[in-house]
Parts: sequence; structure tokens; C-alpha cells
Amino acid sequence: MTPTTRDDCLRRDEKDPLAGFRDEFLLPSGTVYLDGNSLGALPAATPGRVARTVEQEWGERLIASWNEAGWWEKPRTLGAGIAPLVGAAPHEVVVGDGTSANLFKALVAALRLNPERHVVLGERGNFPTDLYITEGVSEIMGAVERRVHADNRAALAGALAAGDVAVLLLSHVDYSTGALRDMAEITRLAHANGTLVVWDLCHSAGALPVELASDRADFAVGCTYKYLNAGPGAPAFLFAAERHHAASRQPLTGWHGHARPFDFSAGYAPAEGASRFLSGSQPVVAAAALEASLELWQRVDLGLLREKSLALTDLFIEATRPAGLRLATPREPERRGSQVSLRHPDGYAMVRALIERGVVGDFRAPDILRFGFAPLYLRYADVFDAAQALVEVVRSGEWRDPRFAVATGVT
Ligand SMILES: *Cc1c(COP(=O)(O)O)cnc(C)c1O
Repeated sequence: MTPTTRDDCLRRDEKDPLAGFRDEFLLPSGTVYLDGNSLGALPAATPGRVARTVEQEWGERLIASWNEAGWWEKPRTLGAGIAPLVGAAPHEVVVGDGTSANLFKALVAALRLNPERHVVLGERGNFPTDLYITEGVSEIMGAVERRVHADNRAALAGALAAGDVAVLLLSHVDYSTGALRDMAEITRLAHANGTLVVWDLCHSAGALPVELASDRADFAVGCTYKYLNAGPGAPAFLFAAERHHAASRQPLTGWHGHARPFDFSAGYAPAEGASRFLSGSQPVVAAAALEASLELWQRVDLGLLREKSLALTDLFIEATRPAGLRLATPREPERRGSQVSLRHPDGYAMVRALIERGVVGDFRAPDILRFGFAPLYLRYADVFDAAQALVEVVRSGEWRDPRFAVATGVT
């Protein structure tokens, strides 16, 4: 049942099995943070973990830490920490570089695994970097790019049925609308048409249970600085299904992906397993922050996380109804990520006015007011208050103040 009063919400918070996690985050007081889908909050353990890496591992042990502190193995040990969150085996995930770079590697590898075909199928309205990287990959690989509406099943099926699509790139959860795609069914459909699938998990890793292995995904990439709380610019992850390891050839053939990097031999030979997707040295200090957040994430029951996420998004959808904004997010829970998007042409000013009231969401052009729900540190009462604030901002017209119309750099 969706709580309907603030008292209901307080009672839900008292019974919430995930409530204890809130104390494991450092949150600014007086703020309801609904932007954890863009930059996740800071875990309380992170500053100490980063300081230890800097002061002890680097400062005292210097170069010995590549072995002693496990720096060299971090892409694999951190990958193994992400694996259970995305339904993969530990050796199928590596951490390193950014999502954009990993998309490039995964797309090229997938195209090379399907050499008879030359079409990359993407989705209209995907996050821009996915579109831009696809453009760049297509140019380098001599491939042709096509785009469909991912939520139009007939259009997607039609595009795959053309029989010439080498690889399909989809976001599991749409960054703008929060629509969740059926990974198992779409992957099955793609495979039936001879197409490999690269899934972008930026808005699903840490937001809901993901089952890459049982859904038969071929490749996947994702951020760790959103729902996984690893900090701004934290390294990304890449998943490659074990069945593709031996034949996969990625294009950024640096020494960290070499079979014997310390032979310093003249020729490239790819490492076994997902390690062949690594390229060069990784940001070890940033990796320490990811390590701290993953220690916390290992203790999270993803079933409970999903339950609370849907309850919070339901609550927000219901409680913001009086604002009269159009809902862009699917109303059916099974088609929704951990986000609620509302539409209004003046959404930018509305979000700015809301931030001034201590409720942090964001705006995505052309007209999306976007709110992310991180179940580990949000309380039902917070979400109730945030919804009330939005209703007041819209009804009072306070967003019409000219100071809210001035664009800032990062939105
Ligand atoms: C956030 C996001 C990215 C980010 O890519 P970076 O390389 O980390 O900047 C990529 N794809 C999607 C779908 C995203 O939501």
C-alpha cells in the first residue's frame, strides 16, 4: 500500500528493514537528495578508506603497494564486487576507465564477433554519450548506425528482423524517462535474429536487481558514481559474458590487458577472461572510494532494495499528482527504474526553485524534471516532504521568479 499521509510515512520508516543504511552515509542536513541517480551520496566509510590509500598505501609503502595493497588486481577484485549486483560471475566483470570508453570497447568487440554484419542498432533518445560513441565506432569500423524507439516493441522487433544488425545497444533504464526494459525478452529476441546485445546499466546497477547471466546478455557497461556511490568520475565497469572471452578483441590494446604485462614483450597478446578488456593504469585513489562503497553494497538485499524503490517512486507519483505535471515514467512498477520524471516546459525553473527549498532533483532538456530515489538513504517521510514542496512550488508560481530562469553550467 502506498502511504498517503506523513504519519503513514513515519510508520513505514520505523518498519523499514533498510533504514539502518542511512547512518552509513554522510548527508547534508536540511536537504532531501533526489539526485543520487546522477551523483550518489558519500558513504561514511569512504573518506577514511581514501585517506588510508593516500597516506599509508601510497605515502608509506610507495611502489610496493601495487602488490601489497592489491593495486594491480583492483580492476578484477572490484569487478568481482560488482558482479553479484548485476547477476554476473566474478570473472566476467572488470573495473576501469569510464563508461564512454567501455562502451567503445564493448561495441567494437561485439562488431568483431559478428563480422558478416555491419549495422549497429541504437535507441532514439538514449543518453548522448551512447549515441556519440556509437557514431564514432561506426565511423572507425565502417558500420552503419540505425536508431529505433526502444519502448516501441514492434519497431524494435522490425529493426532486428531486417537480419543485418550486428549489435544492439540499449540502456536498461532510460536516463530521461526512467523506463525499464525487459532484458531477458529483448536479449532473446536479438539473439533469435543473430544480433549481440550491449546493455548500458548506468541507471540500473544499484537501483534494482540485474540478471546479466540468466538474461543471457553479451556485454554490459555501467557507471559506479550514480546509484553505487563511488564518487565523482569514479571508474566504470565492463561485463563480458564468459562465452565471448576467448574470441573477444577490443580495440584499446594497452598493457594492462596483455596476457603477460611484465614480459614487456614487443607484441600484444590478450589476457584470459574479462581482463583483456583492460587498457592502462587505473586511478587507484578513486578505486579506493569504490571499494568502500562496494563493501557497503555487499550487505544490501537487492530484493528489499527494489521493494522500497518501487514504494518510494509510487509515493512520489501519487503525492505530486496535485501539481498537475505530466508523468513521463511508466506507471506500471515492472516497467519503472528507481526514478520519477515529470514533464513541464518550465521544468528548469521549477527544479531550481525546488532546490532552493532543499529538495535536490535535476532537469533534462527539453522538459523533464527528474527525481532519482536511492532507497539506502531516503526515508518515506523525506519523499513525502519533497512531493509536498514540488506541489507548493508549482501551485504558488514561485518558480516564475526570474532568478530561477538563469542557466547554470552543469544541470
Ligand atoms: C551517466 C551515463 C553515462 C555516463 O558516461 P561517462 O563516460 O561516465 O560520462 C553513460 N551512459 C548512460 C546511459 C548514462 O546514464
